[in-house]
Amino acid sequence: EIAIRIEDMNKWYGNYHVLRDINLTVKRGERIVVAGPSGSGKSTMIRCINRLEEHQAGRIIVDGIELSSDLKNIDKVRSEVGMVFQHFNLFPHLTILENCTLAPIWVREIPRKEAIDAAMHFLEKVKIPEQAHKYPGQLSGGQQQRVAIARSLCMKPKIMLFDEPTSALHPEMIKEVLDTMIELAEEGMTMLCVTHEMGFAQAVANRVIFMDQGQIVEENNPHDFFNNP
Ligand code: ADP
Ligand code: ADP
Repeated sequence: EIAIRIEDMNKWYGNYHVLRDINLTVKRGERIVVAGPSGSGKSTMIRCINRLEEHQAGRIIVDGIELSSDLKNIDKVRSEVGMVFQHFNLFPHLTILENCTLAPIWVREIPRKEAIDAAMHFLEKVKIPEQAHKYPGQLSGGQQQRVAIARSLCMKPKIMLFDEPTSALHPEMIKEVLDTMIELAEEGMTMLCVTHEMGFAQAVANRVIFMDQGQIVEENNPHDFFNNP
């Protein structure tokens, strides 16, 4: 069962060729870490998967749905693909609980009580239910990132994309976010993670993809990757 299939995908920013002939198949339940130097196109590649960026050539098929330029299926794809960013992107003027229930209530039209129950469930899962009525600014970076993960989970995604989720955090908060991601991985979530945390990669990734200058230049299982000199 295929979660994501990318075939001969190319993308330009103006005339800058940022992604070149990307081919990648992600099976359901697979956990892939995307590594590579800054500017190599990692972030752009995963942003193409939920259509935060548009590709210009080749195909991207997410859970059987082809991302086409007419944006016809964009809502369906977005609802199946959760994304966690480097900067947590929480709404500062909404409480943690409101951040988690906003999209379920207003986009999914889930009844308010049901949305709140689900949000509390996921806030417990990321171990911060007691923060539900606080505002993002009152939480540590690590807590805010766990809220961002919970907020994504409230939309019941089939695939989770992570774009350097720990690189804006103080070192002592990185572990709590990685632990949450490891737990998700153990539950079988399909995950594509851009990260420099190679310990995480070694612990959970089925494959490590290495990008350079807009291309996938190496693809390995973590065992081979970490034993390569
Ligand atoms: P990475 O995630 O590997 O650091 P990015 O995907 O963020 O790489 O960026 C790849 C390249 O594309 C970089 O050279 C970056 O400056 C450029 N880039 C990223 N976003 C844009 C944009 N919106 N417009 C033009 N160039 C961009
Ligand atoms: P990140 O750490 O998430 O990769 P960046 O600092 O690389 O963030 O980029 C921040 C934003 O600026 C992104 O939305 C990216 O697409 C955009 N960006 C990056 N490089 C360029 C560029 N050369 N021209 C225009 N936009 C860019």
